[in-house]
Amino acid sequence: MAGELRHEAAGWVPGVYPIIMLGAPGAGKGTQAREISKALHIPAISTGEMLRQAARHRTPLGLKAQEIMESGGLVPDGLVCSMVEERLGLPDCAGGFILDGFPRTLEQAQFIERFIEEGWHVQPLAINLAVDRESIIKRLTGRRMCPVCGSIYNIYLNPPRLPNHCDLEGTPLMQRDDDRDDVIRERLVHYDHDTKPLLDHYRQAGHLLDIDGSRPPRELTEAILQAIRSV
Ligand code: AMP
Repeated sequence: MAGELRHEAAGWVPGVYPIIMLGAPGAGKGTQAREISKALHIPAISTGEMLRQAARHRTPLGLKAQEIMESGGLVPDGLVCSMVEERLGLPDCAGGFILDGFPRTLEQAQFIERFIEEGWHVQPLAINLAVDRESIIKRLTGRRMCPVCGSIYNIYLNPPRLPNHCDLEGTPLMQRDDDRDDVIRERLVHYDHDTKPLLDHYRQAGHLLDIDGSRPPRELTEAILQAIRSV
């Protein structure tokens, strides 16, 4: 790895860096962030999940974000950055964390790098889950979620044991409002335009691990953990 990743902060677990999951919508960031979180004992923080929760609770932020999310757009940088700043200030993030769905713009990337550098004196490690466009569309249109525990399934690729019910909770699964065809197209436009350039940003800094995200979920988790441990 060309760039130097430092972990000087007192109390920081050596070898555990703030991890940024990159990749198109549907690349598997959420599923993998949850698995890595369990393996490394650091929290996985999903800005999409935080925004959906805020929308469910009808907070001022949630109400603002809901319409944007339903149209496939990006919530303004200032709102998302303040939300992330507040979350990373909680004690469970002191020893490391995984960001899923953040940063999504260059401005967010610059914000988080400053924030991490000031607070922890480390550089984040970005992991890019590379998946081809055709698979991405299949993953998004087939995705179903448990509204209780957040488990993610796919009716084509990873179906639940009982059709349309969560294996863990037995609850009927739901489809995200933004997993509809027209919204998916808009989300991919934003990904290509706003988020994909971040790959070069982290690649140039030497802080990017490219991982083939087309593998089955368990194999992919192992590959990511191996890549993280070998940095
Ligand atoms: P996700 O669950 O990561 O696919 O995010 C769902 C939606 O939440 C996105 O399509 C955006 O509308 C919004 N969102 C999540 N994270 C961000 C972010 N970092 N910046 C702007 N909007 C975001």
